[in-house]
Amino acid sequence: MIEEAILEAASCGVDKIVAIDDQAYMDYQADRYTEALRVLVERHHPSAVLFSADLQGRELAAALSAQLQVGLAQDCIAVEASSSGNLLFTRPISEGKQMATQMSAGDCPQIGTVRPGIYRRPAPFFDGPPPAVIRETVPQFSSRLRAGQVVRALEQGEVDLEGADIIVAGGRGLGSAKGFELLRAAAEALGGQVGASRAAVDLGWISHAHQVGQTGKTVAPRLYIACGISGAMQHLAGMSGSDVIVAINRDPGAPMFQVADYAVEGDLYDILPPLVEALKLRKA
Ligand SMILES: Cc1cc2nc3c(=O)[nH]c(=O)nc-3n(C[C@H](O)[C@H](O)[C@H](O)COP(=O)(O)OP(=O)(O)OC[C@H]3O[C@@H](n4cnc5c(N)ncnc54)[C@H](O)[C@@H]3O)c2cc1C
Repeated sequence: MIEEAILEAASCGVDKIVAIDDQAYMDYQADRYTEALRVLVERHHPSAVLFSADLQGRELAAALSAQLQVGLAQDCIAVEASSSGNLLFTRPISEGKQMATQMSAGDCPQIGTVRPGIYRRPAPFFDGPPPAVIRETVPQFSSRLRAGQVVRALEQGEVDLEGADIIVAGGRGLGSAKGFELLRAAAEALGGQVGASRAAVDLGWISHAHQVGQTGKTVAPRLYIACGISGAMQHLAGMSGSDVIVAINRDPGAPMFQVADYAVEGDLYDILPPLVEALKLRKA
């Protein structure tokens, strides 16, 4: 498994890969991972350590920054290098109404978490000499481990929205949970996943795993079809990086139309069923 991960990293054009191949790290354990990262930082002195802003990444970043006594920029939507070489971390504040850009005051390493889906994964490329692979061993500080993994469970109906190429998302405009059956049929015909607005999730029509937006997932598919979603800024925060946005809404003033590449005005129950039938026919 570690060899696969090394190959994957190598295909992203990196110069150096540091790997720990040890059964002790098969399952995620916050204490153990934090200790290992702390040791690696002390040995290799990276100027920055970035994590995915998922549950695990946020936990690790916070634990590592506390151990190293350096600052932390959580939940960023952009990371850029400043002219001084320091990183500029941009993150939403005030419930997503404003963006703040922060720079560390000379911390080394600079630590941040970046929302999954913000940056598109590059197509694999091998350019120049292969990266140096440094295989490390790290002492097991068992006495310092306070947490263990009891059970590994998958959330029921877990979905990979961040990795999806096509998302068909629904909101309050669906009118009921049953509306998601139509969306599932559309997603299946297109080979995509089903997303949702918070309103639909709060109404109990679909699980939170499908929620797109500020308090849900950030996605950047090639195609995002928004059905009966008004386009509140907290929703747009999670999907405006999509390549092509199609909005279906019966309100011509819906904000979603402002960001849409294709605006389809009308009742989604008139528009979607023939589209799904046509897609199914084409697939067949
Ligand atoms: C702190 C905070 C965090 C939030 N986080 C998120 C988040 O992560 N994700 C998120 O989505 N929201 C989030 N919200 C909520 C957000 O502000 C909106 O309330 C929510 O996105 C609205 O969902 P909606 O578009 O489905 O519903 P509505 O705003 O009610 O829009 C429904 C739309 O459906 C259209 N419609 C109705 N019937 C039909 C029909 N038959 N055919 C076609 N169109 C129809 C209407 O014209 C309307 O535009 C957050 C809010 C706060 C305060």
